[in-house]
Amino acid sequence: MTSLVSSIRENYLHTLDQIATAARKSNRDPQDVRLVVVTKSQPIEIVQAAIEAGVKILGENYPEEGVTKIQSVPPQSGVEWHMIGHVQSRKARLVADHFALLHSLDSLKLAQRLDRFAAEGNRILPVLIEFNVGGEKSKGGWDASDESNWNALLPEINSLLDLGHLRVHGLMTMPPLETDPEQSRRFFLRLRLLRDHLATQLPRGDWRELSMGTSADFAVAVEEGATLVRVGTAIVGARRYKSDAEREA
Ligand SMILES: *Cc1c(COP(=O)(O)O)cnc(C)c1O
Repeated sequence: MTSLVSSIRENYLHTLDQIATAARKSNRDPQDVRLVVVTKSQPIEIVQAAIEAGVKILGENYPEEGVTKIQSVPPQSGVEWHMIGHVQSRKARLVADHFALLHSLDSLKLAQRLDRFAAEGNRILPVLIEFNVGGEKSKGGWDASDESNWNALLPEINSLLDLGHLRVHGLMTMPPLETDPEQSRRFFLRLRLLRDHLATQLPRGDWRELSMGTSADFAVAVEEGATLVRVGTAIVGARRYKSDAEREA
């Protein structure tokens, strides 16, 4: 094992350990939480080392960068690829063709495009719906910062369930950046309560997944019900380069 592989492995196992501790603390089964290792803006060597270290799910933010990486690792490596970043309309086909789960479905228009491309590719694309629970202008997703507006979201969310080649499995959020992870708890709680609301109001949907928590706050997210956490820097270190999309932003 190279030192890169063993250090990623050590960080990965330590993160799994922290997830298990947080799950038990809230009387949850640690098996109900999946760890997505975020390799955006990391070179392919890091992806290969992460796979060798035993990582099972990799998360990417930019479709083209993600597809390049997907195509450069052997399919028999058995790793699952998730798209976790904003998808521009013109990149929708890449996502529909190559990813096992889209965490960040953030508009009806994108949903309709993905549905069309998934239909053409003869597949069903699993997705999570992104909600903006902090109300920041810079963040994507349906604005769910004000509980009194949740019912107004229902018709559009309901229409997502009608798209035959998308399959909604739950919710995702990227809350405001806080210095103290405890400050993020209310946002994670809000996403969980919204999930419970959708499950009651739109019972034909599958609302089981909650994708929330990053390196800074995944333990708090697990305590509040996360079923998927997205952890990058704590496992694979600081990002090495800025991708085109980040430079554009
Ligand atoms: C980059 C990113 C992460 C991971 O952040 P870290 O701080 O590196 O753990 C998680 N989710 C999304 C949507 C991201 O863009």
